[in-house]
Amino acid sequence: MARRLAPGARLVLASHNPGKLAEIAQLLAPQDIGLIAASALGLPEPAETAPDFAGNARIKALAAARASGWVAMADDSGFSLAALDGAPGIHAARWAGAGRDFAHAMAEVARRLGDHPDRRAWFTCALALAWPDGETASFLGRAEGEMVWPPRGTRGFGYDPIFVPHGGVETYGEMASDAKHADSHRARAFAALRAACLPEEAPKS
Ligand code: IMP
Repeated sequence: MARRLAPGARLVLASHNPGKLAEIAQLLAPQDIGLIAASALGLPEPAETAPDFAGNARIKALAAARASGWVAMADDSGFSLAALDGAPGIHAARWAGAGRDFAHAMAEVARRLGDHPDRRAWFTCALALAWPDGETASFLGRAEGEMVWPPRGTRGFGYDPIFVPHGGVETYGEMASDAKHADSHRARAFAALRAACLPEEAPKS
């Protein structure tokens, strides 16, 4: 069983991606947890050398926990297409290049897909918690849907404007953030993490 944070505990958010930071802070807002951004502590970004999302999330969380002495949380996530055998997947950030240009990354996805009829796509999110003594716990969430072209909407970040989740009509780039958080890959991973590791709610009297 994973270790649980105590009420009022502090947590370092080990991400330097502003889009992810905003979403994780919003998911954590109702919790009795104090948040510290890794950037505020000047923590370095470790190389993401694992072959999967959970492994990379653990690397990032552990590096931040060891360097800061606080419990740390990290996110590793990506966008996948069935017709591209799951690419860009764990390389989703890399497809945007050094300038983190997601218009370029989305155009690259569209170029590689061409007129392939299979538009099935999904986002995956791994959230990891790490304690300074080396213990880690990780949680996965996935959101299934399809890729649309051209991109639609200016909300969210990354590949949001080309993804419509199953059962929806709007892209993540068009949806209000509350609607995205209701059922996104990140919200699903967070729900599992919250159930296992965040402070339990006090019973209502
Ligand atoms: P990494 O986890 O830092 O390797 O980067 C993951 C990349 O996947 C991000 O830079 C985004 O491009 C993409 N990504 C992850 N989650 C989302 C999301 O919720 N919406 C849009 N793009 C995402």
